[in-house]
Amino acid sequence: MAKNEKKYTIPKTMKAWVLGNKEEVKLVEKPVPHPGPAEVLIHVDAVAICGTDIEILERGLPAMVEGGLPFNKNLTIGHEYMGTVVELGPGVDEFKVGDRVAVEVHAGCGRCERCREGMYTSCLNYGMNYGDKNKGHRANGFTTDGGFAEFAINHINTLVHVPDDMTDEEATLIVTAGTAMYGIDVLGGLIAGKSLLVMGPGPIGLMAVAVGKALGADPVILTGTRDERLELGKKLGADYVINIRKEDPIPKVKELCGGYGAHYIMECSGAVTALNDASKMIRRGGRICLAAFPPEPVMVDVPALVRNNIYIFGIRGEGQSATHRAASLMAQKKFNAKPLATHTFPLEELPTAIKYARERIEGAIKVVVKNKKLEPAS
Ligand SMILES: [Zn+2]
Ligand SMILES: [Zn+2]
Repeated sequence: MAKNEKKYTIPKTMKAWVLGNKEEVKLVEKPVPHPGPAEVLIHVDAVAICGTDIEILERGLPAMVEGGLPFNKNLTIGHEYMGTVVELGPGVDEFKVGDRVAVEVHAGCGRCERCREGMYTSCLNYGMNYGDKNKGHRANGFTTDGGFAEFAINHINTLVHVPDDMTDEEATLIVTAGTAMYGIDVLGGLIAGKSLLVMGPGPIGLMAVAVGKALGADPVILTGTRDERLELGKKLGADYVINIRKEDPIPKVKELCGGYGAHYIMECSGAVTALNDASKMIRRGGRICLAAFPPEPVMVDVPALVRNNIYIFGIRGEGQSATHRAASLMAQKKFNAKPLATHTFPLEELPTAIKYARERIEGAIKVVVKNKKLEPAS
């Protein structure tokens, strides 16, 4: 063992929340897992609640265990976490015991066509991690155990270092910023000096504003329905905000973008009308990234999209190591994500934390649950 390396006493069992029936999480004792090759054990210090966690509680999907719904299968969800590396698997020298890290969700199988192309969030072997179907795929909090627990196993490719001066709460937002960064990647990435419209000031939309501004988009416009979220968008870098309940955004966006509409749109609202609205606010030849989606299929004005040579991209998660680049922007203090983390609860109070996130109690944006830090034994 390297000198100066910390050492932690790892208990045999840990507290972990597991999915019961629909809408039910149960606090249980689970064995602490041990890392295999290319894996580490993390003590989870903080984990943010995501809209997708609530979706899983309601419907099960997109979480899956052994090819089926995840209920009553001892699955721990929670995928937006950060913590401390406390044990290394065989051959791991990319991280040290004691390192603070944040995670991204997907460790693809590493052997399929998409993983080989860097599109590991679109792994063709999603959920294949059991029995004779074990391709080594992991999506923590979806198909393998996640962060609503004291410890979690992560593949080293899903980890990014957290600087000392970044709070635990802010570090849980790295993966959110990574998702926004991935969206900007698929739009082409070269957004400096180009207009960017972000629709929907949820966590990913707000991070899209911040990342877009940090990468030089000009102007950055944010649309939404809640003034306090739009105000936060301004703090994160939006040059203009439009409350669509008070003002028709279509002529306004055109006007703000030289009469032609935005070069790029990140659609983060999931509204039923969003793509049609976007098609009226995008410049000819422009690009639209869909980072959110409505619950049901919707009617789309395809002729408008085709006639105007509009490119449309869907994104799934945070591929292409976008999380690493987003973490770098945050470490460089290009933006301050802290105000998104509005509420903190101890892990034991997860059900209350979920209620705050779901009902947006007290203006909750990101609700974080925290564990007591594990102190090193030496
Ligand atoms: Zn999430
Ligand atoms: Zn794969």
